[in-house]
Amino acid sequence: MSSEEEKVWLPSDPDRGYSENQFEEAEIINVDVEIGDDDDGPDAVDLPVLPVRGTVLFPVREVMSPLLVSRDVSIAAIEAAMAGDKRILVVAQQDPDRESITADDLFTVGTQAHVARMLKLPDGTTSVLVEGRRRIRVHEFLQERPYFRGRGSVFSDSPEPAPATETMSSGMLRLFKKVVDLSEHLPEDVYIRAMNAESPSVLADVVASSMDIPFLQLQELLELEQVSERLQRLHEIVVNEIQLLETGKSIESKINAKVEKAQHTYVLKEQMKAITKEIGETDLAAREAQELADRLEQGSYPPAVKERVTKEIDRLNSMPPGAPEINVIRNYVEWILDLPWKKRTRDRLDIATAEQVLNDSHFGLEPVKERILEYLSVRKLARRMRSPVLCLVGPPGVGKTSLGQAIADSMGRKFVRVTLGGVRDEAEIRGHRRTYIGSMPGRILQTMREAGTINPVFMLDEIDKLGIDFRGDPTTALLEVLDPEQNHAFSDHYLEIPYNISNVLFIAAANTLYGLPPALVDRMEVVEIPGYVEDEKVAIAERFVLPRQLHEHGLQEQHLKVGKSALQRIIREYTREAGVRSLEREIATLCRRRAFRLAEGGKSPVKLTARSIPKYLGAPKFRFGAAEENDEVATATGVFRTASGGELMPVEVIINEGSGGLMTTGQLGDVMKESIKAAQTYLRSHAADFGIDQRKFDSMDFHVHIPNGGIPKDGSSAGITIATALASALSGRAVRKDTTMTGEITLRGRILRTDGLKEKILAAHRAGLKQFIMPEANARELDDVPDKARRDLNFVLAKHMGEVVEAALLGTSG
Ligand code: ADP
Repeated sequence: MSSEEEKVWLPSDPDRGYSENQFEEAEIINVDVEIGDDDDGPDAVDLPVLPVRGTVLFPVREVMSPLLVSRDVSIAAIEAAMAGDKRILVVAQQDPDRESITADDLFTVGTQAHVARMLKLPDGTTSVLVEGRRRIRVHEFLQERPYFRGRGSVFSDSPEPAPATETMSSGMLRLFKKVVDLSEHLPEDVYIRAMNAESPSVLADVVASSMDIPFLQLQELLELEQVSERLQRLHEIVVNEIQLLETGKSIESKINAKVEKAQHTYVLKEQMKAITKEIGETDLAAREAQELADRLEQGSYPPAVKERVTKEIDRLNSMPPGAPEINVIRNYVEWILDLPWKKRTRDRLDIATAEQVLNDSHFGLEPVKERILEYLSVRKLARRMRSPVLCLVGPPGVGKTSLGQAIADSMGRKFVRVTLGGVRDEAEIRGHRRTYIGSMPGRILQTMREAGTINPVFMLDEIDKLGIDFRGDPTTALLEVLDPEQNHAFSDHYLEIPYNISNVLFIAAANTLYGLPPALVDRMEVVEIPGYVEDEKVAIAERFVLPRQLHEHGLQEQHLKVGKSALQRIIREYTREAGVRSLEREIATLCRRRAFRLAEGGKSPVKLTARSIPKYLGAPKFRFGAAEENDEVATATGVFRTASGGELMPVEVIINEGSGGLMTTGQLGDVMKESIKAAQTYLRSHAADFGIDQRKFDSMDFHVHIPNGGIPKDGSSAGITIATALASALSGRAVRKDTTMTGEITLRGRILRTDGLKEKILAAHRAGLKQFIMPEANARELDDVPDKARRDLNFVLAKHMGEVVEAALLGTSG
């Protein structure tokens, strides 16, 4: 978690209130807040509810909205959230004037928020800063006192074609710029946030949350499911607002002309006063300029920097007091002075120590550790040699970030990290020119300031989620960052002076390599971390996660012992992941509950067994075991690679009388549809071999469905699974429930290589399956699969579809 400086903006009309009371200062305030971690928890939520009146909170990340609360139910809700994981549901009440409310008074669509800060004011009211995270539909209010508690689930946007909403968004952005330019209340930051919106949906929310309109309309905007509809409604509102503002401006200038004369004398008098004050201000400005000059004198800066700062300080001294540029220049000079220019930590390149640090902080991962140590050895031998950037690739929670930290620790360097997920604008990496109001250096330099030394270990996280759009391609900027030929003089638009980042040890991290620009991959040395098998997870939990969590919760080892069977149960029934992030979260919950009971005066040592887990963690979240309960006809379980590792998905086929038509559902992409056709063609030409009546291909309609939470699916590696499900449906032979498979199929039934084999095998193993059918062409990759998974699964290496059918279907084709 990092503490960043965040801008907070308040609504343009303070009377509209972001609060139950009224918020009085309508100005931008800078506060230091704790930004919560990005994890919003599961999609189904059960959280304290903060009822608000006369306003609506929108899910706009990284924007803090202040809320003033006074009612007991509200304060109790916030206290409950603060005691927990700081998540809360903010829901508007229908009648803002009603003081005492019941669940019936609340709307059922609200926003899950993260409480970043709570302040108790002397008059008994409480002020909180919240960050809206996502829309929630509340299904049920579970309690009303001491605070409302609601159960609900994430309210997702209905899917729509991207080009339409993208076009609407760029139109909206232009209109919104106009509103911000005309309005005296809306700060430029609102526009910058809108410009940086990750999606049309977020853009709509940023705009909605800053418009000064009746709250019922805001609630309506919150409840609309289609982003295009939201943008449409907003369009009307924004156009209306522009008209109002424009009329307002023209009236204002007419009035000004009239008043001007009468004010002439008054103005003269005011000027007199101002001049007297100015003399004081000049002193102040001169003092500030002197302070900056002193800092320059005391610090150690390269000559080019000294020259530049001196010039800027001279400009500062020559400005008339009160000139708006003063702040801009001062900020700029402060930025330059704050950046590390020469300060560095001394490298410790002792390989034995590094190995020790890695082993003390991470279980297993031998190949990864070896690669890291080799990498460090090369650096030690040839310090000046430019080694490629290390890139850790693997699903969430496998320890990429913590390995980065460990590398930094072992070298005695500082560790900093920047997340590139959702960055679509080059300016986010390289900064905005100073002519922009509120401009700042880009993320690279912001992070360098945070590091405070010129040679930190710098993790570029989520490089696979960099986006590209009309605002320029951030990868070009990233390439410059990583290029040893160029990065001794990295150019940031804000800073203007070249900045040397060649001493930084960059490490990249990504969930998958898929979709990364090849130019970027070329520059990196990729190390894959596929995920852990159950035994490894148990060991990680026992040796690393549990001791760490106990310590963080102020507990001692004897306060809570968690047996192996209990850990296994948590892994099997409370998590479904390649890494150990949810496992860590569940263990944190155990520790928290345990700490709570101890604080209540609970009794001494506890050893948790598998049986007692639900008492602490609630009902199991997942069913452990085979993907299907029974051997079924026409349903085969495929295994797919997703950003979070491997995932099992059933492929279902239904055939009905018809005329050879094909229908697909489950958001299948074009490549997958082609796989279905290839499988059909192959089976048709080999119908007799599989005991299928060939006429069925013309007398039946086919429906292929791959359910799984509306995630779009594509890729050719589902080919053999689809063919198996089809063969089963057509022959009536059931598919073995303990089997999963992956591989592409050709028209002649040959089976082609597939990607992400390790992740897929781990997913099958995690689900407790027994048989894994895969292309023979992938056989060599089995060497990299953890022993445990290799022992537990029976691998069928298939070259041809016939072998798949024999292994996957029960009975015989005779
Ligand atoms: P990622 O960056 O890959 O998403 P993190 O580095 O955030 O993963 O890891 C999540 C948590 O799991 C961290 O607390 C980390 O220390 C722990 N962890 C992951 N792998 C291991 C391991 N092999 N040994 C010990 N702890 C681990």
